Amino acid sequence: MTMEFRPADRIGDLGVSEILTITARAQALRRDGRPVIILGAGEPDFDTPDHIKEAAIGAIRRGETKYTALDGSPELKRAIRAKFARENGLSFAASEVTAGAGAKQMLYNAMMASLNPGDEVIIPTPCWTSYLDIVRIAGGAPVPVPCPAEDGFRLTAEALEAAIAPRSRWLLLNSPSNPTGAAYGAEHYRPLIEVLHRHPQVWLMVDDMYEHIVYDDFRFVTPLALDPSLKPRCLTVNGVSKAYAMTGWRLGYAGGPAALIAGMAVVQSQSTSCPCSVTQAAAIAALDGPQDFLAARRDSFARRRDLVVTALNRIDGIDCRRPEGAFYTFASCAGLIGRTTPEGRVLQSDRDLCDWLLDAADVAVVPGSAFGLSPYFRISYATSEAELTEALARIAAACARLSR
Ligand code: PMP
Repeated sequence: MTMEFRPADRIGDLGVSEILTITARAQALRRDGRPVIILGAGEPDFDTPDHIKEAAIGAIRRGETKYTALDGSPELKRAIRAKFARENGLSFAASEVTAGAGAKQMLYNAMMASLNPGDEVIIPTPCWTSYLDIVRIAGGAPVPVPCPAEDGFRLTAEALEAAIAPRSRWLLLNSPSNPTGAAYGAEHYRPLIEVLHRHPQVWLMVDDMYEHIVYDDFRFVTPLALDPSLKPRCLTVNGVSKAYAMTGWRLGYAGGPAALIAGMAVVQSQSTSCPCSVTQAAAIAALDGPQDFLAARRDSFARRRDLVVTALNRIDGIDCRRPEGAFYTFASCAGLIGRTTPEGRVLQSDRDLCDWLLDAADVAVVPGSAFGLSPYFRISYATSEAELTEALARIAAACARLSR
């Protein structure tokens, strides 16, 4: 007799992310012939630039198709260190940088390498959902700290101080943020750094994935550059997915204290080994190569942001903050909760609204509940202006059909 599959305790009732679930439902509707517009994906719609593709093709032709050094070839590590120095003013030794299959693997390696059961990770929310589940899989305890729209979705020094406990191991910050697009300037980071100085046992993990996608006069800054004295307890995570439209290539990297970096390499050595050799060649070209195309892409994202924010704020019942970066808007739908659909259903939650928008308006957006704050919904505007215009018109028309 075959025993039923029994998941390990560490998996418990964790499921695949809600974002993937809604996207899968939207794709199924599309296959049925429905003209669904999906505003769920967290990836740029641009293509990977040609010079990056050519570098990968060159690597294949040269036979760079074997295992490399465990957590990145020396050449990749050189390019990563040069990037940190050039763009962030951070100086790392080769033993202080590491690379793996995406920034997600960096976060995962770091949590697996550092957390003991019950160790706490302070996570400002709304946040990218993977943070919580990575911490849980690693045996830690996520401590979500609510960061309301009134605070610009940013963590305040008071909230941080209140969240720190004897088991606090990490503070995990993400700027610009997925899902809110909110970004921390020096003036936002400094008070948090002051709190950290009072609690030397708390380490700082920063996720700078959206560094290159910032708008208007916002200046990106990373905490370690503001205060180099954090170096012995700061891990700076980044990757090529978002900046260079390379989500499928899978390469992320991090800089931090050598002992932590070595622990992360141990985790990686028994899971995925080295990042893909061909991808490493592509990433070197991305990091070393021309950066001027980023400005045009930024401008294009900024126009889309303006289009989406303006259209959302024209809808009665929706309120959307103007984000500083990333390619997401996180809008409140509090004014729509309690309204009734033409089919006679009362919308009780942001999830109800998102389900209904998919059914009634053929638009897929992700409920705030997936990121830890309701009632909100996230739009990814990494799609064409034509599609965004159509999607926002559909959302507006649908919302106008709701009755009080
Ligand atoms: N951090 C944030 C905030 C993200 O939104 C994502 C991708 N959705 C990642 C990290 C992971 O990126 P990757 O693994 O593709 O490098």
